[in-house]
Amino acid sequence: MTTLTAQPAATPERHAPPREPENDRPAFRIRNLTHTYPRGVRALRDLWTDIPAARHTVIVGPSGSGKTTLLACLSGRLTPTAGAVERQGAVATIYQDLRLVPERTVLGNVLDGCLGRVGAWRSTLAMPAEERREALTLLERVGLRERANMPLAALSGGERQRVALARALMQRPQILLADEPVCSLDRANAERVMELLRAVCAERGVTLVSVLHDEQLAARFADHRLTLRAGRLSEPPQPDRLVELKQHIPGETVLQACATCAGTQDAAACRCDHPPASREQPEDAAAAIHPARPAWMHPGALLAIGLLVLIAYAWSTVSLGLHQTNGRGVLNGLTAFLAALVPTSWTQLTSIPWRSIWASLIETLQMSLIGTTVGVALAYPAAVLAARNTGPRFIRGPVRQMLNAVRTVPSLIWALLFVAAVGLGPLAGVLALSLYSVGYLSKFFYESFEHAPKGPQNALKELGASGPQRFLRAVGPATRPAALASALFMLEYNVRAASVLGIVDAGGIGYYIRFYLEIRNFPAALACLVLIFGVVVALDAVSVRLRRSLIPD
Ligand code: ADP
Ligand code: MG
Repeated sequence: MTTLTAQPAATPERHAPPREPENDRPAFRIRNLTHTYPRGVRALRDLWTDIPAARHTVIVGPSGSGKTTLLACLSGRLTPTAGAVERQGAVATIYQDLRLVPERTVLGNVLDGCLGRVGAWRSTLAMPAEERREALTLLERVGLRERANMPLAALSGGERQRVALARALMQRPQILLADEPVCSLDRANAERVMELLRAVCAERGVTLVSVLHDEQLAARFADHRLTLRAGRLSEPPQPDRLVELKQHIPGETVLQACATCAGTQDAAACRCDHPPASREQPEDAAAAIHPARPAWMHPGALLAIGLLVLIAYAWSTVSLGLHQTNGRGVLNGLTAFLAALVPTSWTQLTSIPWRSIWASLIETLQMSLIGTTVGVALAYPAAVLAARNTGPRFIRGPVRQMLNAVRTVPSLIWALLFVAAVGLGPLAGVLALSLYSVGYLSKFFYESFEHAPKGPQNALKELGASGPQRFLRAVGPATRPAALASALFMLEYNVRAASVLGIVDAGGIGYYIRFYLEIRNFPAALACLVLIFGVVVALDAVSVRLRRSLIPD
């Protein structure tokens, strides 16, 4: 038995708790349950009821009446601010937004249900055979056995609901909570899913508590019914009572009184008690649409800024000596250089040392490939440690600081340092590219981890998955396309970077560019540049295509 309480709990003199035989115990005993959110929103007020075991209880009520809050208090996700919930048995939840991982297979998602009982290592290496058998049996039961190895993203809404049901049952719960499980389905599908939900729970003796806002579905599928109205339990609304409310509350008053319910079909029945802050919402909204003009946008301020910018330009030109430039001399120099750069005869073209240029180009590509691969291999774990949602709190800060420091040094400077440390040649270049890639890729990676959808992560956390399990089964799969796209971008960037590292003798084609310029063999230097250009354009085209296929619009 689990008790979630905010002491002092029940006040028996107000409500005498009913006595029942031990084997007839309700799944939940709710005693004086009250929940107030920060900023004073009172979502639940003084609820007192029992939810029977092994039956289907349906919670109904207008939107904003506290249904989701009640389910969260029942599951233990929210601790009530007053009163107590006493629970008999383990609970699993089917969330309104399902919180599955669309990038993984149907079977993988169902297997997530056992993460609470299977250790991190075991679940990473290979799931135990008995768990796989159980998951497949559940998929058979919900009619999705043949889809087990398909990606979840390929399934329809109704099919995903059934996967969510199988994952919840995989937790072997005694109680199943379902928040609006069929709200996004059409009528026929909704009835089919509700039928299945009730039948599967009845077969296994599982207590089912669901929130439904469709009166007809509630009437058809409920064994027991709770009606919430403005956070209080009430009798189911009689049709004539609803009409009466509609007649006595003018539409405008209702819309102003409750922003949450405004415009919904439940607006007329709304009795929500929102704090003044939420009533002031329209004024805030108006301020957001017409924000006040910032001080620097006034004409006087703009003129002063313009003058300052002009002074900065003039000062820079003079201090760099650019104002003394002989325009004609520069033009003549450039023309002469261009004439010498472009080969004008067949002999000039064939005397270019193509063989050594090709060899150095291949060396450049090899350096960037190895540098990027080492960069990815180091950046990925570094990003796991640095991301807010995956890294341990005490490690995050230092790792981020270190990565920031690595990022501030350009690849050419890293190359200079490594030439000094390990000597001339491609090794220095590869080390420079690796380190530079770690700095940037880790930032790309940890930002994508932090932006991974929260729903699946929270769902796995609630069903008992550890931090590494959550990363491997929710964050990792959701961010894989973005990570691959970043790695491709880095490779493309590194080809460009590798082609200049040779300038400081760290390997690659840059060495030859510098050498040919020094001996004034301009056509050979141009040949190097043209080849680099060709490789970069080809790589760009391939990686744009790959990235597009990884991250569809
Ligand atoms: P329902 O599921 O019936 O639509 P909820 O339980 O989601 O209702 O919400 C009940 C009331 O609590 C609403 O007035 C809602 O605006 C408020 N509420 C819900 N969640 C929060 C929250 N996290 N912080 C503040 N108020 C909340
Ligand atoms: Mg809700």
